[in-house]
Amino acid sequence: MSQEDPSNVRELISEARIQERVSELARQIEADYEGTDEVVLVGILKGSFIFLADLARRLSIPRRIEFMAVSSYRDGDRAGAVRLLMDLRTDIRQRHVIIVEDIVDSGRTLEYLLNNLKARGPASVESCVLVRKPDGEHTPTVRYLGFEIPDAWVVGYGLDFAEQHRPLPYIGVLEQPPGDAASDEPSR
Ligand code: 5GP
Repeated sequence: MSQEDPSNVRELISEARIQERVSELARQIEADYEGTDEVVLVGILKGSFIFLADLARRLSIPRRIEFMAVSSYRDGDRAGAVRLLMDLRTDIRQRHVIIVEDIVDSGRTLEYLLNNLKARGPASVESCVLVRKPDGEHTPTVRYLGFEIPDAWVVGYGLDFAEQHRPLPYIGVLEQPPGDAASDEPSR
């Protein structure tokens, strides 16, 4: 099986469609933040790294790139509590922040991140999410959304299953869902 075209991944969103949508999101963000000194893009590791790289390169407004890491998945069949694994290295007081996240499933992780960052006194905090699954138990506000997707395990364009498939240029559905993936050690 080649890394580029694994047989157990069915393409859901093509590379061209992703690239087009990332450009659209960048145009929206530019319009909304025009005249702002700087926007702090906070990429949530690891899944957002490719999305963040593409988005940041398409933005023509001043932007700064930061990262956070959290663990959120799961503990047996239960979604576990969100834990902060790596914090920002910068003070976001009085600054405009956009959380750049790969995927919203239950919504718990993004809700945690929004609350956590809002408590630090920024000028604003919004979120930019690549894909969102339906019927999340939590409903954090997603200001910029790439795609709504069905409730299936997706990989590619930064998203993994057990650290596999992140480099795929498209987003695909893993044909064998990760029922065995339940673990205390998340791979984000
Ligand atoms: P939440 O349920 O808190 O919205 O999402 C928790 C985390 O689970 C996401 O940030 C992501 O790391 C992971 N996750 C949920 N669904 C998927 C999926 O379909 N594919 C991948 N690769 N990760 C997912």
